[in-house]
Amino acid sequence: MSSVRVRMAPSPTGYFHVGSARTALFNWLFARQQGGTFVLRIEDTDTLRNRAEHTEGIERALRWLGLDWDEGPYFQSQRGGLYQDAVDRLLAGDHLYACDCTPEQVAARNKAANRPPGYDSFCRDRGLEPGPGRLLRFRTPDQGNTTWSDVVRGEVSYDNRAIEDFSVRKSSGQPLFILANVVDDGDMAISHVVRGEDHVPNTPKYLLLWEALQLGPPPAFAHLPLLVNASRQKLSKRRDKVALEDYRDEGYLPEAMVNYLALLGWSPGNDREVLSKEELVAEFRLDQVKSAPAFFDEKKLADVNANYLRAMKPEELVHRAQDWLASRWSPIADLVQERARTLSEVYSMVDFLYRADVRPDPAEWSKVRRQSPAFTELLGEATRRLTDCEWGPEGIREAVAAAGEAVGVTNLGKAQAPVRLAVTGRTVGPPLFEAMSLLGRNRSTARVEAALQRAREEDTAATARAPA
Ligand code: GLU
Repeated sequence: MSSVRVRMAPSPTGYFHVGSARTALFNWLFARQQGGTFVLRIEDTDTLRNRAEHTEGIERALRWLGLDWDEGPYFQSQRGGLYQDAVDRLLAGDHLYACDCTPEQVAARNKAANRPPGYDSFCRDRGLEPGPGRLLRFRTPDQGNTTWSDVVRGEVSYDNRAIEDFSVRKSSGQPLFILANVVDDGDMAISHVVRGEDHVPNTPKYLLLWEALQLGPPPAFAHLPLLVNASRQKLSKRRDKVALEDYRDEGYLPEAMVNYLALLGWSPGNDREVLSKEELVAEFRLDQVKSAPAFFDEKKLADVNANYLRAMKPEELVHRAQDWLASRWSPIADLVQERARTLSEVYSMVDFLYRADVRPDPAEWSKVRRQSPAFTELLGEATRRLTDCEWGPEGIREAVAAAGEAVGVTNLGKAQAPVRLAVTGRTVGPPLFEAMSLLGRNRSTARVEAALQRAREEDTAATARAPA
């Protein structure tokens, strides 16, 4: 093994961003090509967002892409002792001071002194002892620059005076990202930090901490370019389809995804666009990654995917499609089994999972409308509640029940009917809340919203027709 050691260090957030997938891939390609080690580290110091299912989602995403790791997963939530040692060393070296100012106090002081927002160093000389209710700040130098030679961006330099006295530990005693990140990279002997460009502003702080902890020569940094949409805006969860899971669920092939992600910031030249994983490992060059934002182009991704589909033998296509079809509905197989009498009934109970859009047929629609009190209002309430309820059968049940109650429909069966019709396009099927849980929040909510729209249009047309 070479001395190359890289890591993927995701924070658990509930879904795996395509940008994280690209970061993981570039780390993996570099490790495999250099005969190095690829470490998986879960940065879960933020206990509020720390959920086992999020971590499983990360591992599932990496496995789906075929990015195997050699060490880990390590969990920062289990490494508190190391961060405490680092804090002790930093305190002993007088690199930290305690501070009990609220953000409002800092903002007021900066405003009064006509300084830019950010932390001032008012507490530096107050001599507060560390203790409960006091966070710990790093004493940044008042002169000089912090500079590194970025593999992607070339020389990057920050004036130390522009770096605030950032905190390394919360007043609750919880270590902050920057501290745990540096300590772990040191402890894990990471040789190259390959991560998203959004971390560039953290790097001077990283380097100051690294030096204060006397960890020796720092790792090399390669900050990968931002991913942007067609309007050159940073990809965002609200605007763009960013969850890797969504692409997987739509039937993109992992090998096509890997191929496409590799082209986001790097290119093999000669307009080549289809490369196998082996070719990528051989040809990828970290030092050829460009710093310009990379356009995440769904159309191009679909083209690459189509390329892979066409290259298959028909029997392989059948096989792959069958696997995918089965993976989509198998989580509710037992529920379908209890209700279907033939295989074709199985199909009509699960087709809602595959259709891009569900438009209930007019006869069913009118029947449910006639039988459901407060149909339109209920769909409105449901849309609102489904947007932020806990996403699982129980959370969805509560949201639908509450939507019913809000419009005076206390019978859960009656409250469910319009929602079932909106989401599955049918009046019978597997248990609704499990079905929606599987379909996912975005698609379920979009369908309820589409039905709401249709109901409102009908209501408006009916009002216009009614005699004055
Ligand atoms: N946990 C950080 C994130 O998810 C990654 C930090 C790093 O790669 O250094 O953005």
